[in-house]
Amino acid sequence: MQHESEAEHGHDLPDPPDAQADRAFMRLALDQAQNAWLLGEVPVGAVLVREGRVLATGYNRPVGDSDPTAHAEIVALRQAANLMGNYRLPGCTLYVTLEPCAMCAMALLHARVQRVVFGAFDPKTGAGGSVLNLFAESRLNHHAQLHGGVEAAACGALLQEFFRERRRLGAQARARDAEAADAADAADAADAADEVPRSPTQEGIEVSHLDQPGEEFDD
Ligand SMILES: [Zn+2]
Repeated sequence: MQHESEAEHGHDLPDPPDAQADRAFMRLALDQAQNAWLLGEVPVGAVLVREGRVLATGYNRPVGDSDPTAHAEIVALRQAANLMGNYRLPGCTLYVTLEPCAMCAMALLHARVQRVVFGAFDPKTGAGGSVLNLFAESRLNHHAQLHGGVEAAACGALLQEFFRERRRLGAQARARDAEAADAADAADAADAADEVPRSPTQEGIEVSHLDQPGEEFDD
């Protein structure tokens, strides 16, 4: 995904800030969010752009990486900083499908990212104006331009679909458990003398997602 040209993507991407370019890069961030979903992670994606080109990409992966800091923004920042050999990334724009949390907001400010564009608002943990606004905090020394709500409907819908799917699969797993338990009970009743091994209770897919971005879409 790095250094993808406009021709490769088939998009005409003028230099940001530009509303059309913002939407186009946000759609690339949505592609990254889909990658997270494929791995069972809460679907949040990010792309870091410099001079109209994608420098780095990232998607949410704290469960798979056993890393509470592995939010999409941090993954993209790490990749870009490694690539540039510089922990500071001036002149870059970070696109992310969900309003950054406080950790990511501070990381973006530490990296001196010039501009942050996000999709859906996060009323539970958003640090771009929803819960607090670290980007406008005058007591902090560094500031980045902030623009929220780009492709917000698509970004939010992806999270809602993910949590809906997860609830559905979780309900199915619980139903299977209940069926197995009922069958075992029936067998017990039919032949109390024999020991009937019960299928172990499945943990299903109720992977904890507490403290992960996008929780508020799990409604
Ligand atoms: Zn975050």
